[in-house]
Parts: sequence; C-alpha cells; structure tokens
Amino acid sequence: VIKLVNVNMSFRGRPVLHDINLEIAKGEIMVIIGPSGSGKSTLLRLIIGLLKPTGGEIWVKGQEISRAGEEEMNKLRRHMGMVFQYSALFDSMTVGENVAFGLRQHTDLSEEEITRVVRRRLRMVGLAGQENVMPSELSGGMKKRVSLARAMAINPEIVLYDEPTAGLDPIMSGTIDRMITSARRLFGVTSVVVTHHMSSAFNIADRIAMIYGGRIVEIGTVDEIRQSENPIVQQFIHGYK
Ligand code: ATP
Ligand code: MG
Repeated sequence: VIKLVNVNMSFRGRPVLHDINLEIAKGEIMVIIGPSGSGKSTLLRLIIGLLKPTGGEIWVKGQEISRAGEEEMNKLRRHMGMVFQYSALFDSMTVGENVAFGLRQHTDLSEEEITRVVRRRLRMVGLAGQENVMPSELSGGMKKRVSLARAMAINPEIVLYDEPTAGLDPIMSGTIDRMITSARRLFGVTSVVVTHHMSSAFNIADRIAMIYGGRIVEIGTVDEIRQSENPIVQQFIHGYK
C-alpha cells in the first residue's frame, strides 16, 4: 500500500536520505529505528506528502504522490493519519476541537456524531472527559495522547507514528502498543512506527527497518533483526535495551 522507489531527499543541497527503497503491505506494522538525525521523521513526512522528495517516487494506495494534484492529495489524506513527534496540537483549540479537526475537514458527520467519536477516541487514550481542556494545561504525555486520538479519529487506513510512546510511562506505552496492534487486527490498518523503544519495536513489528546516515542499512522480521550480524544494528539494539 506504500512503496518508495529510489527516494532521495536533500535540504538546501544537503542530502538526508539516500536511495530509499521500501515496500509496506496493507495491514503491515513497519517499525523504523535509527539514531537521532538519521532521517526517520523526514521519511514519515515524505510518505504523508508534507515534503516532496528531491528524487525518486513515492506511491501510496496506487498513487504517485509527487504527481498527485491538490484534490487527489486531499482524498489520500482522508485515509491517512499522523502522530507527530512534537504533538503539533492547535494551541488555541480545546482538546475536543483538536480531535474533531480531521472529522470536520474530511467527513460530513453531524455534530452529534462528531461529539460521540471524540468522546470514544479520548476514552481510548485514557483521557475521557477532557474535551474542554486547553492543550497548554496538559503534560507532554497527555498532548501526545491527544494527538493519537486526533490521528485515529477519522479511522485512517494508514497511520504514521513518530515516536508515539516517547515521554509516556510504561503502562501508557503498553496501551499505545496495543492500540496499534488492535487497529491492524480489527480494521487492517497499516502502521509505520518510528520508535526508540526497542522492547516496543520487538512487541509490535512485523518488520523493522534500521536507518543509519540516511540509508536503510537493515530490514527484516523481528527475529532477523535480533540475529543480524550487522554491527551497527547490534550496537543499536543492545545500547537501547
Ligand atoms: P530524531 O530521532 O532526533 O527525531 P530523525 O531521525 O527523525 O531524528 P530527521 O528529523 O528526519 O531525523 O532529520 C534528519 C536530518 O535532516 C537532520 O540532519 C536534520 O537536521 C535535517 N532536517 C530535517 N528537517 C529539515 C528541514 N526542514 N530543513 C533542513 N534540514 C532538515
Ligand atoms: Mg524524528
């Protein structure tokens, strides 16, 4: 459902991603690991169309997104959600309005139905009844959970998570991991998850890709990654246990 072909990305002439080739199947949970600055967030922003690659092709649901017009992109976004690394909530809107945002933009649900979906999504992330709170009153972990509820509100087919469990306690992290796996089990949702938590990566991943210096240096199942003889991979997974 997602396919990257020889994707290159530079910022002002400085290359950040090199020749990325990656195919993600419908319903797959693909985990991306790698050191800080290796290009993980850039990769997610490319997949959701917030950035245009400097080279190569990115296909999502059968569309090559750098060639897609505004209308086609909007249609695609109706099926995609993203949890940003730094929550990116609208600070001037209540929690409830934040979660409702995508529903108002991409669906024609009635106000009553929107209220119901928002309530259900907030309950799912352990924030039941917080509709009228402002983001500035929340802790970092709570903001992260609101942005999860927002990404999931439109029942997306594809969800991109940029460090969804960063700053969350172990119990909440486990809850988020279970949300990701049950979205796949119940609705066949495809997930791309950037994480620094190796235990969570090993728990949820179908496959893990390791990015290092803007290249995919290893990709495989959990067992294959655990047994990888690549010293960079070994060092990374053991350093992060
Ligand atoms: P972290 O684990 O710290 O979140 P990351 O793997 O997500 O790191 P990216 O945010 O993708 O890394 O950044 C990769 C490189 O691209 C970094 O060197 C960063 O400085 C650069 N970069 C990212 N976004 C931009 C931008 N908008 N303009 C210029 N350079 C950028
Ligand atoms: Mg990042």
